[in-house]
Amino acid sequence: MNSTALAAGVITYSAKELNEELFRLVVTEGGFLNNQRLVDVFVNNVEWRIPELRSYGVKLQFMERDKVASYNPRNPVPLFLVSRTEETHNLGLTQPLRAIAEDLGVKILDDVMITKLLTTRKTVVGAIAIEVKGDKILVLLAKSTILATGGGEQVYLRLRNPTFNKGTTGDGYALAYNAGAELMDMEFVTFNMRAHKQGKISTERYIELVREATTELGRDDNRWNFDGISAHYFCAGIRIDEECKTSLDNLYAAGEVTGGVFGAGRLGGAALADIIVFGAIAGESAAKNSKNSEQIYHEKAQVDEEKRRFQTLLEKKSNIVTPNEIKKDIKSITYNYAGIGRTEELLNQAVKQLKIIKEKMVMLQAQNNAELSDAMEVLNIFDVARMVVASALKRTESRGAHWRLDYPSPDNKKWLKNIFIINEKKMKITTRPVVKTRFDSPTEVRIGVGCWSGYFKIT
Ligand SMILES: Cc1cc2nc3c(=O)[nH]c(=O)nc-3n(C[C@H](O)[C@H](O)[C@H](O)COP(=O)(O)OP(=O)(O)OC[C@H]3O[C@@H](n4cnc5c(N)ncnc54)[C@H](O)[C@@H]3O)c2cc1C
Repeated sequence: MNSTALAAGVITYSAKELNEELFRLVVTEGGFLNNQRLVDVFVNNVEWRIPELRSYGVKLQFMERDKVASYNPRNPVPLFLVSRTEETHNLGLTQPLRAIAEDLGVKILDDVMITKLLTTRKTVVGAIAIEVKGDKILVLLAKSTILATGGGEQVYLRLRNPTFNKGTTGDGYALAYNAGAELMDMEFVTFNMRAHKQGKISTERYIELVREATTELGRDDNRWNFDGISAHYFCAGIRIDEECKTSLDNLYAAGEVTGGVFGAGRLGGAALADIIVFGAIAGESAAKNSKNSEQIYHEKAQVDEEKRRFQTLLEKKSNIVTPNEIKKDIKSITYNYAGIGRTEELLNQAVKQLKIIKEKMVMLQAQNNAELSDAMEVLNIFDVARMVVASALKRTESRGAHWRLDYPSPDNKKWLKNIFIINEKKMKITTRPVVKTRFDSPTEVRIGVGCWSGYFKIT
């Protein structure tokens, strides 16, 4: 299951004359941490790639600017809505596109889970997959590989995204990280604040409640029980350039699995526009790359190593823990200690508890491919949790979706920078200044959770 199928179907759109406004909105919402080159690509493509969907059979309704203002005052650019009929339901966007791909001869493998990217000297040459409903291990060789695996919301105990039939376990982040690709902005996860959004709790009271919950270290699963706060969107992910190329050769990425477009917070409706725009670009870039290159050999040792990893999980053990038990533990740690409100103390607690979980993971046992895929998801969630916590500790300010109650203000002098993560035998964190093309000095930086739930000042 994917987030696209669950989405409300609201798609940000701007005609040419509104491009500058959309650019400004995306960058402001992103707390000025966006890669402005990517925002330019986004804005210039939204203008034609969204209406183009109609030619592929996607039914879209157009919502004029004046109607949008009452629908969502924070996103005053026109929108498209994917028509939701009983027959298309939430698949109105993906079904027509899938049908076209199949007509063109694209072979789609359902119910397989990619567990590892194969690399030959920093070049991705394919992937290893397991059949979730079968018993085979597949070695898939490719001249170009695109990761479009969505977000990692399942890292959190409560979320708005799909939790069944796979999905949103951050597999793409873990796959890219373990293959040596660079990721960015992993501290920026947006949360849904239902009661605040519905006006049931005032902003002042909300801040008070978050502050109280954040300062009590002993609270467990119920830390955010005043509002059942749930993870909604990862603004973070694999670093890409304007052609959706990652830092590894022959590896491309698009959609929620990528970072850079939305910076510290996302405009409502822009995620679907993002997957349409960058999905198309990634496809074009990958196709061009494949046309101009030869398949590179793969190292059999990597396949053997992955098979040994499966074997270790399938071995009978005297002390066992189920993937579900560990998954719940990781989700609780992340939710409680790296959730909507963060402090150094809470985040250090997350680091400590994740270390304990790591020791427990050797007790994971699977009996078949279905359980193996659950176990692999646990390993992925663990990697993603570590990346979120490490980046959240590093960013000693509050900005966009990242609330550090011990550093409650944005710090433009120190932190107009992105945080990058790469696996160089161990996790290496670096910072680099934001890529700016037009907005040089931010006039306003807002703090909050992003998306539909609104921003507010915390101090
Ligand atoms: C309830 C809800 C409502 C939303 N409403 C809107 C909205 O109205 N407008 C908007 O702009 N955004 C909305 N969003 C956000 C938006 O839906 C998502 O950001 C977007 O759909 C992500 O698309 P994606 O293609 O990147 O990932 P997904 O749609 O999640 O697709 C990822 C796919 O990759 C597969 N996958 C993952 N890991 C593996 C693996 N290891 N091997 C094989 N396959 C794998 C998954 O099974 C899935 O099919 C909403 C999100 C939610 C949860």
